[in-house]
Amino acid sequence: MERIKGKAAAGGIIFGRLAFYRRDEQIVKKRRAARPDIELQKYEYAIKQSLEELDKLYEQEIQHIGRDHADIFQIHKMLIEDDEFVSKTRGIITSESCTADYAVELAASQLAGELGRAADDYIRARTADVKDVSRRLIRHIQNTPEQQLTFAENSILCSFDLEPSETVRLDKQKVKAICTCYGTVNSHSAILARTRNIPAVVALGKSLSEEYNGAEAIVDGYAGVLYIDPDSATKRRMKEKREEEGRKHELLMRLRGRKNITLDGTELQVYANINGVIDLKYAEENDAGGIGLLRSEFLYLKNDGFPDEELQFYTYRRVLERMGGKRVIIRTLDMGADKNPDYYSSDSGENPAMGVRSIRICFEHPEIFRTQLRALFRASVYGRLAILFPMIIDPEEVDTAKSMVDKVLAELDEEGIPYSHSVELGIMIETPASVMLSDELARKVDFFSVGTNDLEQYTLALDRQNSMFDKYCRPHHKALLRMIKIAADSAHRHGKWVGVCGEIGAYTDLTEVFLAMGIDEISVSPNQILPLRRKIRSLTLADKLDVLVRYGVIRPEERDNYQSFEGALRAASKVAQKN
Ligand code: PEP
Ligand code: MG
Repeated sequence: MERIKGKAAAGGIIFGRLAFYRRDEQIVKKRRAARPDIELQKYEYAIKQSLEELDKLYEQEIQHIGRDHADIFQIHKMLIEDDEFVSKTRGIITSESCTADYAVELAASQLAGELGRAADDYIRARTADVKDVSRRLIRHIQNTPEQQLTFAENSILCSFDLEPSETVRLDKQKVKAICTCYGTVNSHSAILARTRNIPAVVALGKSLSEEYNGAEAIVDGYAGVLYIDPDSATKRRMKEKREEEGRKHELLMRLRGRKNITLDGTELQVYANINGVIDLKYAEENDAGGIGLLRSEFLYLKNDGFPDEELQFYTYRRVLERMGGKRVIIRTLDMGADKNPDYYSSDSGENPAMGVRSIRICFEHPEIFRTQLRALFRASVYGRLAILFPMIIDPEEVDTAKSMVDKVLAELDEEGIPYSHSVELGIMIETPASVMLSDELARKVDFFSVGTNDLEQYTLALDRQNSMFDKYCRPHHKALLRMIKIAADSAHRHGKWVGVCGEIGAYTDLTEVFLAMGIDEISVSPNQILPLRRKIRSLTLADKLDVLVRYGVIRPEERDNYQSFEGALRAASKVAQKN
């Protein structure tokens, strides 16, 4: 038996078989072809194979995603047969005497470049289709099999790392657990696994080698351990642990329908973080009070191109309707850094987490932002919507975002399309800049949601993607907790509410300090809702200042000042709420 220790990223115990996954790279080089006529034949063959494949896909996907969405495969067929594209590719093969794969890539990149410059959203989004089509053709020319993300029943997926766009495509019926050599517990793939209840262990290192492909194994997602070829004693122990966890789960389930209230009466909202419609069932099962963070970018990652207004409208509407009047906070596109769809590339430099990501992409491409805002406001009549803008660094950015909202609302008015007039607008507090300017920011928005994953990364100067630096991660760091307190005080001073939606919201050893700060709402992965509720219900908050001193949020000598400050804060908050 082999025991490999990694980091626990999502709880659960799974018995299964290891299935290794390695991302294929398509290598296309410019090479001279001795026989261009043979290259032309290869190209014809690739066209034929691709068309057949697309026909099959179309038929199959009509069952899964409906005719409207399956139509994308018809569009791909049209692109493959497009006269201009075909004659350009053929022309490159003959005029440059080069190989067919290179000709396809060149013709496709020229076409994608032209489409990318188009003014129309729809046409621009087709660049992704051109890339997809060209990958398919090249695969047939090079005669390489399609990369499958399909796995046998009961697979434990193993890989070096996993991108969020791959994680969203996994079939949960087959892939029962995820193990990666690298990655961190705060990476988006790990967050996805937690949200979807897929046990996961990350940072297992190089010991997780491909030689174990197909081996029997047990994943202990609670302890962050992978057992390969487990002996009978380990199997027995893991079965017992699984039963024990099952019993704990049943006890937790009894908390459904109960309030998130301390023994001495302080209540707060506990919401769910989700990534799309598919996760709603987990939010419901775990009795979420609302949706505290819908990471809308996963809709973009799953799609082959920027999702159009209709697809977005339909998705947001379904979430709002299913939540039946409970608050649903949808974050606008937070793409970039580790969340990059194939169809969008930007030069974000050596530190993509600090480059053009998130709301900056929306500001640079107002048409993408506009489409999303239109879809959101159109959907707003179906429930209680709050819109959250990510990565804000100053009040001017809030003004820019709000002016886009105003434009969209004027358009909807003109078109006679109804929307709710009580949509709340909030911002993520996830940069130190937004903490420093939180007072000005609080005047401009309805709420704050503290994104501690990024706030920790930017405050402690730590790359959240890199497991090498895990030992420096300190979510209890005084600087981080003080930042949260500053933001919370600013919000409350202006009568606004504040939530925490980063992963540390689920750390039950911090619940007490969040309550003492007066956090109004905490949003966590669905399966962390009931453990958090249990914790809240076990606490007494006799002396909030005492808690804040204990956690280093305020210094002991500041206590007296704070006593009067807290009073002033409450008074200011009451005045603001009245207005
Ligand atoms: C955060 O930064 O804390 C957050 C919730 O956003 P994300 O994890 O998607 O960056
Ligand atoms: Mg973030």
